[in-house]
Amino acid sequence: VVGQHPVAQATSESVLADVLSGQTKHEPHPYTGLEEYLRDGGYALLRACLAGEHSADDVIRTMEDSGLRGLGGAGFPAGRKWRLVRAEAGPRLMAVNIDEGEPGTFKDRTYLERDPHRFLEGALVAAWAVGIDAIYIYLRDEYHGCRAILERELALLAKAPPVAGLPAIHLRRGAGAYICGEESAMIESIEGKRGMPRLRPPYVAQVGLFGRPTLEHNFETLHWVRDILTHGPEWFTQHGLNGRQGMRSFSVSGRVRDPGVKYAPAGITVRQLIDMYCGGMQDGHTFYAYLPGGASGGILPASLGDVPLDFDTLQPYGCFIGSAAVIVLSDQDRAVDAARSMMRFFRDESCGQCTPCRVGTAKALALIEQPRWNTALLGELSQVMRDASICGLGQAAPNPVDCVIRYFPQELA
Ligand code: SF4
Repeated sequence: VVGQHPVAQATSESVLADVLSGQTKHEPHPYTGLEEYLRDGGYALLRACLAGEHSADDVIRTMEDSGLRGLGGAGFPAGRKWRLVRAEAGPRLMAVNIDEGEPGTFKDRTYLERDPHRFLEGALVAAWAVGIDAIYIYLRDEYHGCRAILERELALLAKAPPVAGLPAIHLRRGAGAYICGEESAMIESIEGKRGMPRLRPPYVAQVGLFGRPTLEHNFETLHWVRDILTHGPEWFTQHGLNGRQGMRSFSVSGRVRDPGVKYAPAGITVRQLIDMYCGGMQDGHTFYAYLPGGASGGILPASLGDVPLDFDTLQPYGCFIGSAAVIVLSDQDRAVDAARSMMRFFRDESCGQCTPCRVGTAKALALIEQPRWNTALLGELSQVMRDASICGLGQAAPNPVDCVIRYFPQELA
């Protein structure tokens, strides 16, 4: 199927030319290649680190002070992760997750298509601070333009490295499986095996890629490393709304006038996002509901549109922000339809390794495709899936269904 896809047949060079000239479906955008990045002071931080102007301890402490958390969805504090992996015996490896498969998420692609070296410098600084021997980048295969960009920029870096002694960087292509965005499934896939999540412990920080301690990061987490270390932790912590700290990249889609990646303070509400960053709702549409974290993060009604959006703030509502993919629904949509669509997605994307998820998603879909929902049975099924699934896919799959039962009873009447 991939071979028949017209875009898949295009060469990296032709895709790259399209992306750089703006001849894609997307608007033209400024692009920062190696030359422009160096002109803008790029790789000065990395050079300073390798020249001994900073200590690894200081750098890790600054990352901890910034409070930056993993932006792929799990939200583990980045600086703490660096410290944990560095404490493990070498050789250590790094795995960078650019699988970006969560429905509604497109922030990593947006940044990568514009400024790839900011991320590469962040990865190399992290590698230096943690003592990493090799970096593996796992890229979503549907991102043809990003692959072309990375292939080109990595070749340029290899030809003229800004500083000697850098670790090897390997670029690996995913194959379209959502589950390979889960860190341990991604590691299996990089190792050449079928992408299935591992049981933990041991954690990836201890036993990861090829059995070695592994620093696993989402693309965007590394994208912010240079700015945090150059401008200090306050550059990041001074922002925030409603008692939260930092900035977040929200991928906003749905019934808003101006969708896209919105770089906004953590803790912003969806109403503020829609009004202040997205030009309001589309004409003829009234705000009805929203998905705060893609397919897995649940569905909330407009009456809960004033909840701060950040890690931890949505838990009391049975939801989570994940990778901050905000999908806005209007009075012309139904939460029931969204829940069915999500469950179909989870059933298709379940890796099949454990029964609560493999069978549970199929059973749940069969139950919610009925005109009348058996809410008692669905409630039991959700509990089993949450309690007994191996990974986050099976544990989060019931979220949209539970939310419909809890917040949209009128649609089930
Ligand atoms: Fe696979 Fe689902 Fe089990 Fe995760 S929860 S290991 S995706 S079957």
